[in-house]
This record gives sequence, C-alpha cells and structure tokens, in this order.
Amino acid sequence: MILLPPILAEPQHFSLFEKLLFAVLAIASAYGFWRRFGDILHKILRSKRDPSFRLLPLGKRLWDFFWEVLCQAKVVRERPLPGLAHAFVFWAFCAFALVTLNHCAVVLGIGFLDPAGPFARFYFYFAAVFALACAASILGLFVRRFFIRPRWLGDKLSYQSGVIALLIFVLMATYLASFLVTDASLGSRILWWIHTLALLTFLPLIPHTKHLHLVLSPATVFLSRGGFSQIPSLSGDEDFGLVAGTDLTQLVSLQAYSCVECGRCTEHCPAANTGKLLNPKEVVLGVRAYLNDLGPSSTEPLLGLYNSQEAVFQCTTCGACEFQCPVGIEHVPILVGLRRGAVNTGEWDDRHGAKLFLALERGSNALGLSPAERDKFIDKAALPIFDGTQEYCLWLGCMGGYDPKGREIVAAFARVMNYLGTSYGVLRKEKCTGDPVRRLGNDLLFQQLAEANLEALAQNKVKKIVSICPHCVRTIQEDWKEYGKPPKIEHHSEFLARYADRLPKHADGESIVFHDPCYLGRYRNVYDEPRRVAALAGNLVEAARNRERSFCCGAGGGLAFLGEETGERVSHNRAQELIATGAQTIAAACPFCNTMFRDALAATGKRAPELVDIAQLVAGGLPAKSTNGIE
Ligand code: SF4
Ligand code: SF4
Repeated sequence: MILLPPILAEPQHFSLFEKLLFAVLAIASAYGFWRRFGDILHKILRSKRDPSFRLLPLGKRLWDFFWEVLCQAKVVRERPLPGLAHAFVFWAFCAFALVTLNHCAVVLGIGFLDPAGPFARFYFYFAAVFALACAASILGLFVRRFFIRPRWLGDKLSYQSGVIALLIFVLMATYLASFLVTDASLGSRILWWIHTLALLTFLPLIPHTKHLHLVLSPATVFLSRGGFSQIPSLSGDEDFGLVAGTDLTQLVSLQAYSCVECGRCTEHCPAANTGKLLNPKEVVLGVRAYLNDLGPSSTEPLLGLYNSQEAVFQCTTCGACEFQCPVGIEHVPILVGLRRGAVNTGEWDDRHGAKLFLALERGSNALGLSPAERDKFIDKAALPIFDGTQEYCLWLGCMGGYDPKGREIVAAFARVMNYLGTSYGVLRKEKCTGDPVRRLGNDLLFQQLAEANLEALAQNKVKKIVSICPHCVRTIQEDWKEYGKPPKIEHHSEFLARYADRLPKHADGESIVFHDPCYLGRYRNVYDEPRRVAALAGNLVEAARNRERSFCCGAGGGLAFLGEETGERVSHNRAQELIATGAQTIAAACPFCNTMFRDALAATGKRAPELVDIAQLVAGGLPAKSTNGIE
C-alpha cells in the first residue's frame, strides 16, 4: 500500500446559516478596517503635495522595493535574528495571499484550488513551510517583546502586539492542523471557522495598531525621496518649513503612519544614547499623534505639544536613524523641516545659533574670524592661488581656513599633493558652504552662501574640487544643486586612496583605529578608501561601532557651533569607544570629528592615543620635509 502525504482538509459544504454568518462577519471586518484606514488615507492624501517629489526614474525605486520590501534585506541586515523572524512573518503573509483568497472562496462555493490537484497540493505544502517558519518566528518575537524586552522597544508593554501575535499564531496553527484531519470531519469545520474568525479579527486591527505598516510600508519604501537624508527644497517665499499641520507633506504623513515602533532609530541615535531629550522614534510618533488629533489642515504649531523644539535642535543629522529604519522613514528631512519652521518664524531663540548666523552674515565663516585670517594662512602655508590652469581647486572650508587643527590637515594634504605632482590652487575668496545653517534650518542664509560660492567657482572656471571636509563635500555636491550646477567634488580620502600605490608605506607595527565620519560613511558610502590610506601608516583595528553603524562625533547639524550639550557629550562617548580599542592612533577624516575628539581626549585626563587626520598619516611618511611652513 502506498501512503500518500496528507492533503489540506477543507469542509466541502456549508449551510446557508454558515454562509450568511461568514458574509456578515466579513462585511463587518472589512468595514472595521476601512473605517480607520480610510480616515488615515484621507489624512495622507489631504496633506500638502511634496513640491520636490519626482516619481521618475523608476529603476532605483523598483530595486529598493525588491531589496528592502520583498527580500526584507534591511530588516535582516541590521538585526539578523529578530530581522529574520520578521522576514518569515512577512514572507508567510505573501505566501498566504492565495491560500486566504481560496479559503474565503470555499465558503461561497467558488474555491479555485482543488486540494487534491497537483498545483494546489504543491502550493499548500509550500505555504505550510512558511506557516511553520512563521509560527516559530512569531513565538520568538513574542518572547523577545514580552520577556526579553529590549529597552528600545519602550517601557510600556504593547498588549496590542500580544493580541496580534496570538492571532497570527492561530492562523498558522489552524492551517497546519488542517493537514491532520479529513474534509468530512468535524475537526476540519472547526479549524476552518477558527481560522476564519482569526482572520476577520486580524483585518480591522491592522489600521488601529502599528501593524498598519503591513499595508503602508511597501508604499513608503517605494515613494521615498531616494537620496540619503535628502533635504527637500522649500516651495517658495511662503514656505517656511514644517510649522503647522498645513505644512506636512503627503510623504511626511505617509511616513508618520508607517512607523512600526521598532526603536531601531533610537537605538542608534547619538542624542538618545547620551541622555538627551531627542528620540527619533518619538519625533515620528509625535507627527502621527498630531495628525490623529488635529489633522493636516490644522494651523496649530507642530512644535510644542507634539514635539519639543529642544529635542529637534539636539539632532546632529548623523543619519543613523534613517539608515536603520526598516520602513523607509526619512527622519533628517523631518527634523530639518521642523528646525526650518522654528528658525523661519523666529521661534528659535538660541544665543549660540544667533552668533553663528551673525558670523556667517558678516564674515562668511562659521568661526566668526576675519577673512584676513584666511589670507594670512594661505600666505604662510604657501598655498597656490587657483588661476584656472590647475587641475583641482583645494576647498579649504571654515575648518581648513580658520581652525588651527584644520589648517594642519590642509597643510599635510597639500604636502601630499605636492609630492604627487598634482596641480591645485585655493580660491582667494571662499565663503562657508552653508552646511551648518542648511541643517539648522536657515535657508535664506544658506542660499546667499551657496549662490556666492557658485558664482566664484564659475568665475574661476573650477572644474574639480577636493576637500578635507565631508560636510563641505556633501553640501557642495548635493545641497548646492538647488541653486546651480556645482563642479565635481571629492573627499581627500578618495583622492589619496586613488594614489595609494604611489604613496610611501611606513607601517611600523603601530595600531590605528579609523573613525568613520557620518558625512563620509552613511552620507557618501565611502568606507574602504580612508582605511586603505590609513593602512599605509599602521595596522588597522576596528571600533565596536564602525562603518555604517559608526557613532557620531556630535558635531554635525550645526551642533559644533551650539552650546553645551545636555547629558553626556556625544564626542566623549565615541572617544571612549575609540580608546577602548587599545589603538595607539585615532585616525579621522573630517576636521569636525578631529576638533570634537581633540577636546574629548583632553578631557579624559589620561594618556590618550594620538589623534590625526589620514592626510597627516600619509604626510608623516613622505621623504622630504614640508616647505609650506605649517608643521
Ligand atoms: S540624525 Fe542622528 S542625531 Fe538626528 S535623530 Fe537621527 S540618529 Fe539621532
Ligand atoms: S521610525 Fe523607523 S526605525 Fe524608528 S521606530 Fe519607527 S519604524 Fe522603527
């Protein structure tokens, strides 16, 4: 006798009462879903259109959708074990779409999958594999949420999550149990009804809970702005940023409703990790609460009851939150939008911020020094002036032109360029790129700086720029685009890595830890180049948080120029981690990181590792002594 594997049992006949009961419950369930979901959809669609949103080109959108939604790559990559469990739940939902349609069709007598037929037999087994994986995963996630309770999930236990987990488990368990009974048995009918009731209870709960992301997040990922931490342009003189509900765009509203409250953003946020008020998850949920309570037509301020101004101005724009978010929420544009609202309406009253704005209006540099100081440095360092014949314009930036440590980095990099025989020159007049004011929300000042610089570069016929500062690189390459076509720009780590074979290797057993600057790593995706350069001077070791997960130095988003931080200083937290590697040298590739760590290392009171830029590491191995008078 040949033993055939069991097939999925489905009741063959349903009474009129059962059919009517199913119809009534299904309509009630769909109504419960739509009543809330329709309201949310209405709020999203009634929000302002995003002025800079472009659907095309579609290629990247489709790829992101495939990779991040269908493959769940981001979910798994950042938290492998719980991520895989989430992914199995998602894949099971996809596999169950056909099973569920057929399940509901059976009661109406129009079931289209014959359990004994070859396709259905195969498909039901295929779905059973996912059902098993999903049941195990949901159990694991339940244990994690209710017993292990990682602190980033929040202090409050979400009983909604418990109910949803139970319903998903029941759905999977009843499906699997249907293989163990026969069509005609009472067991098959009981299982069918339990499965159906779980399904019809689950549906209306979706839009009432954070499980709304099941419906919205595929759209959120597909419709994201497409550029990392991309700040959208304002739509005209009347656009002051995110001031009130009327300023919330459809993208922001969609994102606010997509948050799954996983806390990944908060787990990686330097502000939240050092005892500050800012919690990126709560910022997103604050926008959602505003929409729920007041809607997108409200003129009530966004900052105040629902989000705190203090928290918003604690953001370093490091992008860790955005990088981590599994559902495509773009925190930085929201945070900068809220800052814009506060600055442009005069609501932000900060002594240090006002001083910075004044310094940039008067002297065009963030350090508030006279431009004559930059001229003196150029003369002392014997830096050539760009005259249109050289290959590169060496962009000094505020730190390279005015900060003593930044000047040392420029001088070291100039020595290396001299050694390589690269022709370069610096602009006689250069203004701040506008990075700090752009990210603090002062668009008017940013525009003035960007336009003046673009004009100077065009007049000087600059084709290529190289800079020691990742903030300058990002601002020139991306943010200036709003006002013109900037020349090509690269960071000095990219330049140096290209010539690494021609640079002397002088590793003498010294260990070096490289700190990934946020604006070079997450913003520019440059990780290997600075390491290749640093490796010329020693053996690399890695900090606990490195590359994409690198921890901020605390300077970004204009915070280098604001006052004392509350809680632990971000730079101290990171410096301790770098010291803990035991490396003799800390290598940086950003003058802002350099200045933050200089103070943080000094504050340790212990013998700290040496702190240098990668250009200084290379210059230290050059055969001839510098002639530019700075060392
Ligand atoms: S950008 Fe960085 S500092 Fe700002 S909220 Fe996100 S993780 Fe926190
Ligand atoms: S914003 Fe994104 S990362 Fe943060 S809690 Fe929500 S879903 Fe998670």
